[in-house]
Amino acid sequence: MKITGSFFKLPRGAAFCACVVSLALSSGAQIPTTHKTQNVIVVMMDGMRWQEVFRGADLTLIKTRGPKWLGNPDELATDAEKQYWRLTPAERRRILMPFLWDVVAAQGQIYGNRDLGSDSHVVNGLNFSYPGYAETLTGIADSRVNSNDNVPNPNQTVFGWLNGDPEFAGKVAAFGAWGTFNGIFDKEHCGFVVNAGYDPLTAVPATPEIKLLNDLKSESVRLWADEPFDPLPFHTALEYVKARKPRVLFVGLGETDDWAHAGSYPEYLISAHLNDHYIGELWHLVQSMPEYQNKTTLIVLPDHGRGEGKQWTTHGEKVPDSRETWMAFIGPDTDPLGERSHANSVTENQVAATIAALLGKDYHAAVPKSGTAIADVLSK
Ligand SMILES: [Zn+2]
Repeated sequence: MKITGSFFKLPRGAAFCACVVSLALSSGAQIPTTHKTQNVIVVMMDGMRWQEVFRGADLTLIKTRGPKWLGNPDELATDAEKQYWRLTPAERRRILMPFLWDVVAAQGQIYGNRDLGSDSHVVNGLNFSYPGYAETLTGIADSRVNSNDNVPNPNQTVFGWLNGDPEFAGKVAAFGAWGTFNGIFDKEHCGFVVNAGYDPLTAVPATPEIKLLNDLKSESVRLWADEPFDPLPFHTALEYVKARKPRVLFVGLGETDDWAHAGSYPEYLISAHLNDHYIGELWHLVQSMPEYQNKTTLIVLPDHGRGEGKQWTTHGEKVPDSRETWMAFIGPDTDPLGERSHANSVTENQVAATIAALLGKDYHAAVPKSGTAIADVLSK
């Protein structure tokens, strides 16, 4: 549940294909003259802290109880400790997010481990969801984007921009747990499939799987008014990939943020672990499909961080640490530099241009207010 309002969480509601391009980044870096990436998948985990991504579970928080209605909170905490506590950060993070560490970080790059002098952050100064998604997806930290209200984004996302290119028209799609993705992507006008919140997926013929997912969205208990549990949007996205094979795909998962706001550290860890499993499932699916195999780049990141210590439940302008994020890349154009240390700082407003550059397009030239592409993850 990303609460609406001007402040955070105040309950108101295969084959190699060398595509030659001749564009230059104004940063001085070149848009790669060749690139193997033909598809980009962006998965965002709402409010997932870099602390757990790089250090794993925090023993001082692991017994932080969830609300009483979550069953037996002591049992939850004991189970979480058993499942996610290990002696070293390397063991802990791997047990929490095995796909991220064994596959994405091992074969790609991951930024944001402050313990190794690597920084990733949002530049919008607000450190909550809509501004974070807007910054990431448009490349612009726009001061007009200052609430979580489900209103049309004043700026076009890179997804919309790519959909306006004949090469990608009709091959762009976005799925998200949070209903406000309808506004962030400007569903009304963007011209591509956006499926968010409890909305049924009607853009493709209803297979038995899609019908069941739509039924579950309508019939399941609505713990959060603006967001179903992550399995529903995730599996909806997966069915869409099988049916339509989009070239530019967004998947937004929300439970990590919801459980953190609820103060339930065990549930936060469980959600992070499930998200990691889902990202692996999506990656393995696309690698089994000729349209995607060896020519797809996956990007994983959150929309904001969270506070340190007792402030782990929250984020926003008044929680400066919550500007700190992380981001991970894996794909045929990204050198396997692994966990980055003492790397140049990366910012979320660079992600839109990076998505485009991976596909051989110069978004930053078209939208100069956007951040420049991250050269280190592109083909040289
Ligand atoms: Zn939040």
